[in-house]
Amino acid sequence: MAEEKARTYKFKAEVNQLLDILVHSLYTNREIFLRELISNASDALDKVRFEITKGTDVADKDLPLEINIKLDKDKNTLTIIDTGIGMTKDEVVANIGTIAKSGSAEFLQKLAQESDAKNVANIIGKFGVGFYSVFMVAKEVVITTKSYLKDAAPVRWVSDGKGSFKVAEIDEPVKRGTTIEVHLKDDAKEFAEDWRVKEIIKKHSNFINFDIKVNGEKVNTQRAIWREPKSSLKKEQYEEFYKFLTYDPEPPLDWIHVSIDAPVQFQSIMFIPQKNYDIFGINKEDIGLDLYVRGVLIQHKYSEILPEYLGFIKGMVDSPDIPLNISRETLQENKVVIKIKQVLVKQVLSHLEKMAKNDPEKYKKFWTEHSKIFKLGYQDYGNLEKFAELLRFNSSALEKAEDLTSLADYVSRMKPGQKEIYYITGASREALESDPHLEIFKRKGVEVLYLYEPVDEFVMTGLGKYKNEYEFVAVEHADISKLEKLEDVETSETEVEEMSKGEEKVFKKLLEKIKDILGDRVTDVRVSKRLKDSPSCLVSPDGQMTSQMQKIMQIINKDTTIPKKIFEVNKDHKLIRNLLNIYKNDPKDPFITEAVEQLYESALLMEGYLTDPHKLVKRMEKILTESSEWHPQSKNLN
Ligand code: ADP
Ligand code: MG
Repeated sequence: MAEEKARTYKFKAEVNQLLDILVHSLYTNREIFLRELISNASDALDKVRFEITKGTDVADKDLPLEINIKLDKDKNTLTIIDTGIGMTKDEVVANIGTIAKSGSAEFLQKLAQESDAKNVANIIGKFGVGFYSVFMVAKEVVITTKSYLKDAAPVRWVSDGKGSFKVAEIDEPVKRGTTIEVHLKDDAKEFAEDWRVKEIIKKHSNFINFDIKVNGEKVNTQRAIWREPKSSLKKEQYEEFYKFLTYDPEPPLDWIHVSIDAPVQFQSIMFIPQKNYDIFGINKEDIGLDLYVRGVLIQHKYSEILPEYLGFIKGMVDSPDIPLNISRETLQENKVVIKIKQVLVKQVLSHLEKMAKNDPEKYKKFWTEHSKIFKLGYQDYGNLEKFAELLRFNSSALEKAEDLTSLADYVSRMKPGQKEIYYITGASREALESDPHLEIFKRKGVEVLYLYEPVDEFVMTGLGKYKNEYEFVAVEHADISKLEKLEDVETSETEVEEMSKGEEKVFKKLLEKIKDILGDRVTDVRVSKRLKDSPSCLVSPDGQMTSQMQKIMQIINKDTTIPKKIFEVNKDHKLIRNLLNIYKNDPKDPFITEAVEQLYESALLMEGYLTDPHKLVKRMEKILTESSEWHPQSKNLN
């Protein structure tokens, strides 16, 4: 067979873009190119090992599975050779020449926007940039590769990383695997130095599951630390392993190392990262644990091994009880895998429980960083009791927005006989503290949990009760008669005069009038028992969803109608008393309608239902204009 003529291909635009960023902004961290090449070699070895264990008849099946690195200072080259799965010509063109990884477009955008070189290095370090990073140090790269498929021809790929590459099938005897010959740039001679390359491997690739040899000498020493007894492992080893797995520049917040013998046998090391990197929003594929069977990697980042709400956890699990030749498709239904998942969840939850008890500061860090996803645990019906103990909330009994309470602590502060855990949802502590619905709770000194995220309300409804005893009740659904029985803890400074019998009668009529004005926009108008400082508010009728939940449902259903609620009026508020006087003088005074409309729309605005503020603003302007007429200085012309 004659050697075929090499064809020239252009890199895809995004590859050029990435190359540009890599070559120009990552000078200080160039060494990670080696980590990337080694990790590709290791992936290729994992793939071929998987084929071999499945019984596939692979080419050169007796080759040892290992990575060899040859350095030549005279030629200024670094060559990395693996005996992995190799590539056919089509595969080379498809895999090396485009960026297939999902999210790479956003990733590039993030990178391009980042001006701080250190952050660029961090982002790249965190996500891995793959093969192209080699061009940070290379003036030319030659890949020779032979697929594990027996009749596939070997392929050679050559590029200087400047816009295009050449590729052709070749007529040479080549053994299975991939050889990457890196012709180093003049300013990258260090990467042909034995000590330097060994140092990089120790730093970034020490846990690779295959031997890495530099000029014949094995360099990586740490393999399968999860199989070693916990007592023999040092903090540094865990941290190093974490860094190896995640590329996270920060050490982990905590780790869980478990070794289980029954009902299934497995070992696992799970890490809780210090930071939730999902803010980049490109990390969807970054969920799950690496799944090993007897030290053989079966699946990288297997997401089904943990429930979604524990998706922040990184790490691995290794079990001899999973069949080695299991197909990726049937993993999910495998009984052993299901059992492992159940045990892992229990392990994580009890670990968090211990952390909360023994190291509240650390727990708070965990909560602040990962609670958004963790809260989805309300769907894990089998573990709700444990889950509930791990929840934290801000509350009216705490001083600052960052302070947190557990449900157990809330219960310990309850009023005698109280069986409800009250909560309210809002955008911020400031917003909630001025919410009229809370006035009676403040007056009676009853604690209310402050919820700031939409998911919180699902948590409440999902749990229903705490410890099977204390019901979660939204403030707007609270049975006010229960609160009224409690003694006031705040005394009001201004004494309010009782209404006379006659006034009460007129007031009833005024309520009727308000009902007429609001018509079928409300279900009822009544005297409020919850208000103290505000003139009026809207309340959900019994059995209705909370406002927050309604809003979520409305967004889901694309529904923009305003739900009908009860309009409550604070009989003792100055404004309402003034309205009563105006009504007494002239029940038809137009100011009454204006004021009621304004109060109603203000309440809608507070609840987040007012979609068109025009009328409200016009009315406000009119009222301000009129009241300015009464201002002592408004007619003063000097
Ligand atoms: P990633 O490893 O994240 O997929 P890379 O840019 O590192 O991205 O590699 C791109 C692809 O090229 C790999 O997915 C793989 O298919 C192929 N590849 C790279 N190096 C090798 C290798 N040594 N052996 C076999 N295939 C390789
Ligand atoms: Mg890679």
